[in-house]
Amino acid sequence: MRALVTDADGPRLASERELPQLGASEALVRIEMAGLSSLDVACATGRIGHAGVIGHELVGVVEKLGERVSKSPLIGRRVVASPDIACGKCDLCRKGLSVHCRDRRVIGLRGHDGSLAERIVVPVRNLFEVPAGIKPEMAVLASAVADAVHVAHLVPVEKMTYVTVLGDGAGAILVAQVLAKRNASVRLVGAREERFGLCERWQIRHRHISEPGLRADQDVVVVCLEPETGPSLSGPDAVRTALGMLRPRGTLVLQGPPVPVEGLDMSLSAHLERVIHDELRVLGARSGRIAEGLEAIASGLVDLAPLITRRARLEDGVAMLRAAASPEQIRTIVDIAA
Ligand SMILES: [Zn+2]
Repeated sequence: MRALVTDADGPRLASERELPQLGASEALVRIEMAGLSSLDVACATGRIGHAGVIGHELVGVVEKLGERVSKSPLIGRRVVASPDIACGKCDLCRKGLSVHCRDRRVIGLRGHDGSLAERIVVPVRNLFEVPAGIKPEMAVLASAVADAVHVAHLVPVEKMTYVTVLGDGAGAILVAQVLAKRNASVRLVGAREERFGLCERWQIRHRHISEPGLRADQDVVVVCLEPETGPSLSGPDAVRTALGMLRPRGTLVLQGPPVPVEGLDMSLSAHLERVIHDELRVLGARSGRIAEGLEAIASGLVDLAPLITRRARLEDGVAMLRAAASPEQIRTIVDIAA
């Protein structure tokens, strides 16, 4: 099969990669579309220590089931996959905390082949059927939407006066969309003015990070750490800015990628004094529940079409990585079958 792979030699399109072996509890999925985000680009360029097929988002059709899951009703169905693969054996998995599995693999990012390929095998428990009303190019973003919905669960913003989302990548824009539906005063603070037009389209308040007058008055600041955002919106600089915006006893939410990314320094140590002095709450946010992502798409909670700025085909190979990394692109969707 064809697949976009990366390893020590860098990214390339492999045209004769062997089909993946189907495990007893897994499904073989024929991939229709894959998402290509800044995280996948970072992975392809070696900023994440993953070797194999890249791509962590997919929509596809279940072609074959392993012997232990042969009765699954998902055969022949269109599905999306939760990227986090839990081991099912460690102490945390046995306690029902598989989201924090000690031996977690992540599709296309750590220890498991990704979605920029014609086929993938995924544990059946990671798969969710796509409701008939959701187009495949929207469903492919279900896990990104789920991560944004997860932030809304962590911080009930409905009754708060001042809420800021710091960042202007696709993740931050999705978080701002979801939170603004719950509280119209939510604003996005970003560094790329060309993205503010999207905020206006959804009536989300916005301001540029360099504007003066960022007072320490925010109830909640959500920092969305994404590989494509510049230094002012990633790592220690973003955390320092966020802490400077918070009122005493305010809440800092750090939303980050599911695996460490080189160059995305998420250390907090330089700023802990402010956390102690002003009794701030610090919450971490990572992966949401993909079923909730599908639900949010189906109900119209999020508007995804304007975020898809580019379509590519698998045979575009490494050229699609370069194109996806250009600043005007928000999200690229890759047609695998085309
Ligand atoms: Zn585990």
